[in-house]
Amino acid sequence: MAYQYDDNNIFARILRGEIPNDTVAENDYALAFRDIAPKAPTHVLVIPKGKYVSFDDFAANASEAEIMGFMRLSAQVAKAEGVSLEGGNGFRAITNAGSDGVQEVPHFHLHIMGGRNMGPMLA
Ligand code: C5P
Repeated sequence: MAYQYDDNNIFARILRGEIPNDTVAENDYALAFRDIAPKAPTHVLVIPKGKYVSFDDFAANASEAEIMGFMRLSAQVAKAEGVSLEGGNGFRAITNAGSDGVQEVPHFHLHIMGGRNMGPMLA
């Protein structure tokens, strides 16, 4: 079955400018903004501008340009936030997919979290 994208999910509405967001970086293919309920001193979400439900949808169906744009923006954010391995102490990048992954917003997003030791992954 094909992935079912909900055009009214909250990140689709952010991309359409219907809901405000705290943008930190953007390129032709992706948008990065601060999580509204941060779980770490740095907590940025990176989302593709295209309509992809989840990591697996994006990885399987996005174009090379979209994937490259998304990945490069993610690296740019980590560096700009001072958490990349180029001068920083590192970060955690995670994505939740579907019900077992406890994904709340059905538009693919990568959480980039750092600025403190993130502890064991499943804590
Ligand atoms: O991975 P998951 O779908 O569970 O995460 C959704 C994230 O989107 C949450 O961390 C939530 O705080 C964030 N969010 C946001 N801005 C909104 C709605 C949700 O940053 N308007």
